Amino acid sequence: MGSGKGGVGKSTVSVNLALALAQLGGRIGLVDADVLGPSIPGMLGLPTHEPPMTTANQTILPAERYGIRTMSMGMLTGDDSPAILRGPMVNKYLNAFIGDVEWGTLDYLLIDLPPGTGDTQLTLAQNVPLSGAIIVTTPQDVSLKIARRGLRMFEKVHVPILGIVENMSTFTCPHCGKATDVFRRGGGERMSKELDVEFLGSIPLDADVVTCGDAGLPIVLDKPKSAASLAYLAIATALVRQLQGTPTTGLKAFSWEWSGADTGPGWMEGAVLKSGARTTAIGLRRTNPRTLSLLWEDGQQGHLDVRDLRLACPCALCVEEMSGRALLDPSKVRPDVAPVTVTSVGSYGITIKWSDGHSTGIYSFETLRALAERGANASAEDV
Ligand code: ADP
Repeated sequence: MGSGKGGVGKSTVSVNLALALAQLGGRIGLVDADVLGPSIPGMLGLPTHEPPMTTANQTILPAERYGIRTMSMGMLTGDDSPAILRGPMVNKYLNAFIGDVEWGTLDYLLIDLPPGTGDTQLTLAQNVPLSGAIIVTTPQDVSLKIARRGLRMFEKVHVPILGIVENMSTFTCPHCGKATDVFRRGGGERMSKELDVEFLGSIPLDADVVTCGDAGLPIVLDKPKSAASLAYLAIATALVRQLQGTPTTGLKAFSWEWSGADTGPGWMEGAVLKSGARTTAIGLRRTNPRTLSLLWEDGQQGHLDVRDLRLACPCALCVEEMSGRALLDPSKVRPDVAPVTVTSVGSYGITIKWSDGHSTGIYSFETLRALAERGANASAEDV
């Protein structure tokens, strides 16, 4: 969940959307990553700066309220001035949030990002496999420039945009029921058309949204029949439909043990199309203990040596973000390094947990195709 600026209601949308998704039967986790103003615990009626419980093996137990498991920066940082929590520190905390928290089984983990399109968002998007991003905007704040910057940032790290939510649109008078457009109407929808991303819906400006937020009882629970609650529910429904839609990979979501009995999550030769996409994977398998093979929709196959794949890890720890300079020293990577688990990331790539403990890289299918082609060319030159 991202926005160009603060104050557009991103946290309020996150909380109510989490509850609406739970009402649709999902098990939900909610991360408050907005370091500069952690507000989600308060909205859920939880203490803001109480440190979380930890388990015997040093993992963190999330707080739970209204069936939503949640972690907030505020819980980890106490009353520390947020000013010191920039850059690398923020990333460290964010990674701890996702990795060291005992979330249990979840259907959806929502992350409320700090506003802006800076390094934090970029690094998070690179380090955590995200299925998609939702952009929250207000009608008067529909700056195409900011939105475009946000879209480009997510595109760069291959995170699909699930859509735009317009918050605080029409105001319905609680006394006479008359709807007034306080701000210019339809900005979010226009923006979605111009940027060619889905419009997920708009949430009316409603004083009850504020009151319920302040009281720690979100409107979706307190006034489930209100127009705002119904709007949240409609957006949640649209999201579920999108996230459960058939992935374009043809491969269903998977988490595959490299050394297990299964040779892979699928190999669908029947799905090859003459005009098939170059970067849509319809097959993935272990051809031998050192080779990961891919089948693309256009019928091409690629074969990747697993150590080469480890060396090509695109994450921020292995490659310097701005310059593209390699930070990983090949001589430090053991010859027998191998995947432990290979997991799908949305419909656009995979992430690999390696035998050397590394697990932060996301390999988009586009990257894998390029790597395989580069490898094939190199071996042709060797001949
Ligand atoms: P952000 O996370 O983007 O900084 P918040 O979620 O903290 O924004 O919301 C900012 C303020 O706007 C809060 O006081 C919140 O109660 C109010 N707000 C959010 N959504 C609505 C809405 N639909 N109608 C009225 N007030 C809203």
